[in-house]
Amino acid sequence: MPTKRDLLHSLPHRTAELAAKWLAGLGDRPVGARAGLAELRAALGGPLPERRTTPDEVVEELARAAEPGLVASAGPRFFGFVIGGAHPAALGADWLVSAWDQNPGLYAASPAVAVIEETAARWVLELLGLPPTASVGFVTGAHMANFTALAAARHEVLRRAGWDVEEWGLEGAPPVHVLVGAEAHVSIPGAIRLLGLGAGRIRLIDADGQGRMRPGPLAEALEGLRGPVIVAAQAGNVNSGAFDPLDEIADLAGERGAWLHVDGAFGLWAAVSADLEPLVAGAARADSWATDAHKWLNVPYDCGIVAVAHPAAHRAAMGLDASYLGAREDERRNGQDWVPELSRRGRGVPVYAVLRALGREGLRELVERSCRLARRMAEALDGRAGARVVNEVVLNQVLVRFEPPGGGDADTFTREVIARVQAEGTCWLGGARWGGMEVMRISIVNWSTTEADVDRSAEAILGCAAQALAAS
Ligand SMILES: *Cc1c(COP(=O)(O)O)cnc(C)c1O
Repeated sequence: MPTKRDLLHSLPHRTAELAAKWLAGLGDRPVGARAGLAELRAALGGPLPERRTTPDEVVEELARAAEPGLVASAGPRFFGFVIGGAHPAALGADWLVSAWDQNPGLYAASPAVAVIEETAARWVLELLGLPPTASVGFVTGAHMANFTALAAARHEVLRRAGWDVEEWGLEGAPPVHVLVGAEAHVSIPGAIRLLGLGAGRIRLIDADGQGRMRPGPLAEALEGLRGPVIVAAQAGNVNSGAFDPLDEIADLAGERGAWLHVDGAFGLWAAVSADLEPLVAGAARADSWATDAHKWLNVPYDCGIVAVAHPAAHRAAMGLDASYLGAREDERRNGQDWVPELSRRGRGVPVYAVLRALGREGLRELVERSCRLARRMAEALDGRAGARVVNEVVLNQVLVRFEPPGGGDADTFTREVIARVQAEGTCWLGGARWGGMEVMRISIVNWSTTEADVDRSAEAILGCAAQALAAS
């Protein structure tokens, strides 16, 4: 039997083989999971083991048992939610992160990862056109990025009102007004809830048919307000891909002295393309930003990025001090100053790697290609088999409604088409309610998606619509 030391040398190779096999099949396998709950529980459940199993057996069994329940969401024809793939450079770097097993919460615990993350942070700010002096944290996703940014916002607007929220809490604090577009991502009220500001106290600002916050109603809402104000705007609606008019919103927030936050989980990356950049005009004027690396940057889960124009507020909201953590009064980066976590993995490393691999040019190409493919998909579907594209395809998101040609309930029909597409397996996508209607959502952010993938998927979707019609 191999010793543990032997396994430390041999198991990574075997694991890489298993992983490579999975990756090689990503483009061919049915995209959705094949196994159901009962089957997966039978394969992966069972009692807590009393006795040991060798690490190599554990890994072999895990790969075999999980496989039928895995989703090819990192593959080229997964269009559900907004889910990126794993670019090879990011994946390789991510494996190193696990093998290195560093804790970049503190510079002293990993000087190399601290410098890699410092560099990745600088590159991200430059690519997104954000102030180079902004502070940056690597978190689990855009939800935590929103949370972290809004914690910095809460600190700063209350500090300006003479209140130290970190010390004194919210009890007795001046009320903080939070203004959010009506079509904001659920993560914004989620973050506000975690921050104790009360999701139910958010003022929702009317949005237009594409989901863009309307500046007129925002101006009206700001007019009568006294005390601290936070405005959360959006770059890239999770359904339609639409952008709030950030320049106008920045004017209004600026006049009122409000903190402006921009949730740009995927949309902020429009900044890397000269063609798309007008969509994010004004974003750089905000006080904080949230984005994801595991969406359009194609870094494996999990990685989100928060940036704050006021590092002192950011650190006041997040950083921890204790004698054993060491002095932090110099330029060395302690990751924990900028995120809710103290210990964590070096999740900035895959960001560094993918940006080195793509460069500015490759990233622009990835973003522009995704948008081109989204338009190609929209054109392939619109007007065929009852399909109607219901959003302006300004970015990478396509919303499609299926209206039975002979009449009938379009909500039911749309749901039926989605269910058939998911079961058919060529591609995978989900649904949502949009403008009071059931719609199919198609999101294209994967680095490996090609025109052929889009064409094949469009054919499969139309085929499912035809079948649904025949069966109805
Ligand atoms: C995906 C998304 C989020 C949440 O991001 P996670 O990575 O799931 O934490 C927040 N806002 C927007 C606009 C998103 O698209």
